[in-house]
Amino acid sequence: MRIYTFDTTLRDGTQGEGISLSVEDKLTIAQKLDELGIDYIEGGWPGSNPKDKEFFIRVRDLKPEHARVVAFGSTRLAKNTVEQDANVRALIEADTPVVAIFGKTWDLHVTRGLGIDLDENLKLISDTVGYLRNHEKEVVFDAEHFFDGYAANPSYALRTLEAAKKSGAQVLCLCDTNGGGRPSRIGEVVTEIRRRFDGVIGIHTHNDSELAVANSVAAVEAGAAMVQGCLNGYGERCGNANLASIIAILELRLGCETIGREKLTHLSSVCRFIGDIANVAVPNSQPFVGKSAFAHKGGIHVSAVLKDPATYEHIAPESVGNLRRVLVSDLAGRANLVYQLRQKGFSGHLDENAQRELLARIKQMEHEGHDLESADGSLELLVRSVMRPGVHLFDVVRYQLITGADGSNPLQTTATITLRIQGREHSATASDKSPVGALNSCLQTCLESRYPQVKDVHLTDYKVRLLGTREGEEARVRVLINWNANHEKWSTVGVSRSVVEASWNALLEAVRLQLMRLTEKAGSVETTA
Ligand SMILES: [Zn+2]
Repeated sequence: MRIYTFDTTLRDGTQGEGISLSVEDKLTIAQKLDELGIDYIEGGWPGSNPKDKEFFIRVRDLKPEHARVVAFGSTRLAKNTVEQDANVRALIEADTPVVAIFGKTWDLHVTRGLGIDLDENLKLISDTVGYLRNHEKEVVFDAEHFFDGYAANPSYALRTLEAAKKSGAQVLCLCDTNGGGRPSRIGEVVTEIRRRFDGVIGIHTHNDSELAVANSVAAVEAGAAMVQGCLNGYGERCGNANLASIIAILELRLGCETIGREKLTHLSSVCRFIGDIANVAVPNSQPFVGKSAFAHKGGIHVSAVLKDPATYEHIAPESVGNLRRVLVSDLAGRANLVYQLRQKGFSGHLDENAQRELLARIKQMEHEGHDLESADGSLELLVRSVMRPGVHLFDVVRYQLITGADGSNPLQTTATITLRIQGREHSATASDKSPVGALNSCLQTCLESRYPQVKDVHLTDYKVRLLGTREGEEARVRVLINWNANHEKWSTVGVSRSVVEASWNALLEAVRLQLMRLTEKAGSVETTA
């Protein structure tokens, strides 16, 4: 069965708190949605602001390959004729092949909200739909508050759909605007509407009861053939239905055709791309596309998944473009470690005893508060150290920091460090606004004379977390530092009672790891400090 996908990230999605998209952002997202094979892209409300108006002018140059661009607006105001209504005029001027208009279906909103009588509202709907159809638009009628309206006054709610249908609307989209619907009830109502009306029935749900995806799926099972939502579920209050999850469920569980299996393999990357543009990261736990959606941690789970992924995975991660991940932590068994070693190309380098020793050290470090799940660089360093026990790159002789402000000058830290490299002492002093920056500069200076490639290692992010704040427990801090060198990224961790020492340890881990990698690549003689 073919189900049409309708994404409203650029309209309803931008009504979510903290989401603000420039015209450029909207065009970039529209391009991605088109590449993903979304059928309808609702671009905005041309009558409401200049940004959306500009979007509709510039989107013409985008020439979508597959998607139809949709302009959104409301039925005409009661005081205007349809020809005079500025909002309706803006919809025509937006020059899109499709227009979605919302109309009132709940009698309470008509009499209390609009303050007009029930028949007049039917006239607003039929005038507006008819006018847009005369301008050769495909019309989606968004029946606002339909499920609440149908519960309060079913015969009137049905008359609003009849008015839209008779005037030529191609899609009757039933909206759970307040997000209070339940799957069983939504299914019942959609079945009834399906029985009464030909053509495409759509569904538009909100996530206020955390049921938006379930409600949309129930609607499709009851006969709806268009699903509206936002990839990543952005939107007003608790968000719109997450279209990414709906697409995956329809394709993989219900056997419906939406964007197709091939395009489905781009779902994770498109969701993350949109998250980057919207500046709202996709949560790790987001179903199907989140980083943790196929991450296995418990030792028993991992050994089973490695024998047969179906034991703990409801779908194959590759079908939605995601990855299986096996985490190594204090909950891990040897299977987790073996998987990680294989992924990093280290399998075969460690015998069973070495693996057991490594796992014991990992568990000890996790117990001390090192988060090796996040600090993949520290984990790799540990593995490499067990693999090459003879390597000794340098020793720290001393390090010292002086932090202070002078008059109106900003706070400054001066660091001095001394390292012993191949029997010779090297010292450096550097100043920076942050202690981490000062220490990092010193490390680079000291090591550069012996290992020039160390200058390619760049610090990109720095996080501090307080650990052990329970009573009677000594407070410690965990510092996680992200690094980048020649397009490779990794993180290292340090734990201590002092934030300076924790940072210093994380810095040392990063340079040690890079030097381990380099000396192995170069096949250089292992050195003794
Ligand atoms: Zn909505």
